Amino acid sequence: MRIGHGYDVHRLTEGRRLILGGVEVPFARGLDGHSDADVLIHAVMDALLGAAALPDIGVQFPDTDERYRGISSVLLLETVMQRVRECGYDVGNVDVTVLAQRPKLKDHIPQMRQRLAQAMRIAEDRVNIKATTEEGLGFTGSGEGIACHAVCLLQETEKRKGNG
Ligand code: MG
Repeated sequence: MRIGHGYDVHRLTEGRRLILGGVEVPFARGLDGHSDADVLIHAVMDALLGAAALPDIGVQFPDTDERYRGISSVLLLETVMQRVRECGYDVGNVDVTVLAQRPKLKDHIPQMRQRLAQAMRIAEDRVNIKATTEEGLGFTGSGEGIACHAVCLLQETEKRKGNG
């Protein structure tokens, strides 16, 4: 077993759609960024890459690269999973905590879990997503941005064991 942790923050801004966990959440503002700025998936990808001891998403998908402008983070997650599997790992589980004052995310979480499980090609009960506010404190509390933590466990596949 190998453990990984990922953390990401994006600023909330006018004139952008809010994409979280591969799902469009109706809200007056969206997250700013080079890709679709899906802070949830970015944290998950860094947790996966961290557990596999691979370079982080800033190295894998540089924000200076025009290929990644506006790209769906679901596609990036699929690529990350491909790299993780090539290294001889499969996902044990992923657990995610989104820090957002608004909007309320509870009703969107089942769909986010489904999207993530689909992109990662794992069972839905291996993906958990929680949302919390920070009681009005700090940059998430003021609505300046949304933050996300993710942890994951990777298990060695037979392929990796075979490689010793
Ligand atoms: Mg990011």
